Amino acid sequence: MREYEKNIRKVEPYVPGEQPQNKVIKLNTNENPYPPSPRVAKALEEMDSDRFRLYPDPACTALTEALADFYHVNPDQVFVGVGSDDVLSMCFLTFFNSDKPIFFPDITYSFYKVWAELYRIPYECQKLDGDFRIVKEDYYKENGGVIFPNPNAPTALYEELDVVEDIIRANPDVIVIVDEAYVDFAGRSAMELIDRYENLIVVQTFSKARSMAGMRIGYAVSSPRLIKYLNDAKYSFNSYTMNQAALVCGVEAVKDREYFEEGLHKIIKTREWAKGRFEELGFCCLDSRANFIFATHPEYDAKELFEALKDNGIYVRYWGSERIEQYLRITIGTREEMEVLFGFLERYVGRQMPG
Ligand code: PMP
Repeated sequence: MREYEKNIRKVEPYVPGEQPQNKVIKLNTNENPYPPSPRVAKALEEMDSDRFRLYPDPACTALTEALADFYHVNPDQVFVGVGSDDVLSMCFLTFFNSDKPIFFPDITYSFYKVWAELYRIPYECQKLDGDFRIVKEDYYKENGGVIFPNPNAPTALYEELDVVEDIIRANPDVIVIVDEAYVDFAGRSAMELIDRYENLIVVQTFSKARSMAGMRIGYAVSSPRLIKYLNDAKYSFNSYTMNQAALVCGVEAVKDREYFEEGLHKIIKTREWAKGRFEELGFCCLDSRANFIFATHPEYDAKELFEALKDNGIYVRYWGSERIEQYLRITIGTREEMEVLFGFLERYVGRQMPG
């Protein structure tokens, strides 16, 4: 080993889903199959590239104000970043500095463990129950902070707001982060609780319901007190996280509430139909409340099916990790993309579906 090696920060990185460059049916990274609001396309067309000479607004004022308006909070309660990954990472850096372990579920967004290791934060995973549900009492023990997604990923299960609130209420001395990347497809958001719990941070993204994964926009809503700490950390790291185009397009997307709601409706409708189709083919699906379905088949090996789908140009996500080695995570695509998926699955399981 070279001498300098011992002073290098070594991490086992998060492995993102594949982004194939050829044309495939892409149901592997929970992107939205529909384009963003037409107001985004218009803003891009009208964008003057001369603006790129200048640094963007470090405070991201226009986008922060648009989000504050949308959620009926004050602009000093909103923080924006380069996708919610950036926002979450900044939260880990800023808020999780205790000697006690932070808590998150054993089956969850795998980036949490990576950030904890990157920043050397002690952590303890709390086991989901036999039905892959969060056991709220596990989060009542002493800890250095709490984070969980709602709906959880990759299970797609949503916990009702009273469960979320019980966890927050039990943890007044630490920061509780609710990662709501998929909440628009699910139900009530913990955003409702912001004014009651100063230590709560709700993180959301433009990548899913707003169809803008490629623009990289995420945000946190919390008390002004915690948002100030987040900004202090951000300005000590990189003042200009958000590029000019993302700031302009983000504002346009937020302002088009009608398009946003129509888009949600389409995905939810396809999801509910898809659950039924999976079940007709003998799959067991968890009760998805997100824009993806977590499914297993009692007779077919998940890894083999994953490979077979890929060989046929249909990309889904497979982890092979403990307790979920027989599950696939399938993003909800357009109705047409899902028809191709079910056409393949019908042949694979050798069953003809009615209709
Ligand atoms: N949280 C969860 C639970 C996710 O699944 C994802 C998407 N991979 C993210 C956060 C990050 O999304 P983004 O950085 O695109 O906002």
